[in-house]
Amino acid sequence: MIADKYDAFFLDLDGVVYVGSSPTEGAVAALEQLRSMGKDIRFLTNNPTDQEEIVARLGSLGIEAARSEVVTCGTATASVLAEQDAGLVWTLGHDGLRRALSQGGLKLVEGRPCDAVVVGWDDSITLSQIREAALAIRNGATFVATNEDKTYPGPEGILSGVGVVVDAIIAGSGKRPISIGKPCTAMFCQAIRSLTPGKRAVMIGDTPSVDVLGAHRAGLDALLMGNARTYPGASDFRNPDGRIGSLMDLFDPSVETRSWTSPDYRWPESVEPGVAGVVLDGEGRVLLMKRSDNGLWGIPSGHVEPGETVESAVIREIREETGLDVSVKELVGLYSDPTSQVITYPDGRVCHFVTSCFSCSVEGGQLSRSGPETLDAGFFRPSELPEPLMPMHPRWLFDAVAPSGRPFLR
Ligand SMILES: [Mg+2]
Repeated sequence: MIADKYDAFFLDLDGVVYVGSSPTEGAVAALEQLRSMGKDIRFLTNNPTDQEEIVARLGSLGIEAARSEVVTCGTATASVLAEQDAGLVWTLGHDGLRRALSQGGLKLVEGRPCDAVVVGWDDSITLSQIREAALAIRNGATFVATNEDKTYPGPEGILSGVGVVVDAIIAGSGKRPISIGKPCTAMFCQAIRSLTPGKRAVMIGDTPSVDVLGAHRAGLDALLMGNARTYPGASDFRNPDGRIGSLMDLFDPSVETRSWTSPDYRWPESVEPGVAGVVLDGEGRVLLMKRSDNGLWGIPSGHVEPGETVESAVIREIREETGLDVSVKELVGLYSDPTSQVITYPDGRVCHFVTSCFSCSVEGGQLSRSGPETLDAGFFRPSELPEPLMPMHPRWLFDAVAPSGRPFLR
């Protein structure tokens, strides 16, 4: 049975331990049984409050919990900021979050000047505060979101959550936050650090894109409670390692689970269409440019913009990055394998590119060695490629000169 397979159980609250003001079926008995077996229990919630509030709420449902067993995105925010020596912290959030940050040893201020802006639950937030927060972030303050949940179910229907305010500050500041709550890993890491090393832990949640994704990003097994839909991809991080109907199923020998194996790429937030162009000169040398975003040499490449064909996108990218006008000869290949096509940007965004790579020939223009996206550019012999090089580009170049007769699918 599942209860024997793990030493520690990380439990989502809403939807797993309780729904509204009632415990879920069997939750009280299941937690007592786990405790009697000597299992570690942690409660992980995206509620940006302090531990006391959660302990009191569980107590009112007949569930005993210690403060040290509770990980909220408020306590995880405090621990991340304390590690970073955050300085003066301006909090847009309610008293529970302020208490969690104070208990974490942080110095709280009201407004600018500040070294960090923390966005949590705040019913009274104004446009003036959003404007001030965005300005502080533009001036260098660290931007932290306790969570980015856009909506949550309420008595009147679907209601707006903290993520809506976070989005407003992203729009105003042009910066993305360090995000703490599930499905990011900070809360899972805090829960793992609180265990004796070597203990086997599992996450149990009711939301694949929050609880399961977050656990898998942190390298943990994850069980889904309830009937939420899952996803078609075999290695999709949002698919659980098993399903349970209630917490009592942890003691049912007939409920089967697998173990999660993390693939060697990060989970991407989006899938993006990309293009790349292999341009050879008359001597068989290949056109490469040194990218200003990461300092790596590579084949000219970029995004397909809305309304563009892939051919017009590759012609535009080569013109923007090198000054040369090219025509498209043929499709070299389509590249989508996440092990090489998932890219992490310097600002933390993780994207999965599906790249169409073409061979192209120069029709005109003048080679320009620098520009907004380009630190250097030139033609190189395939045997003398410059370093450091974008890791997947030698493959594309090799495919472009290999006589295959048809495009590669990789
Ligand atoms: Mg939940």
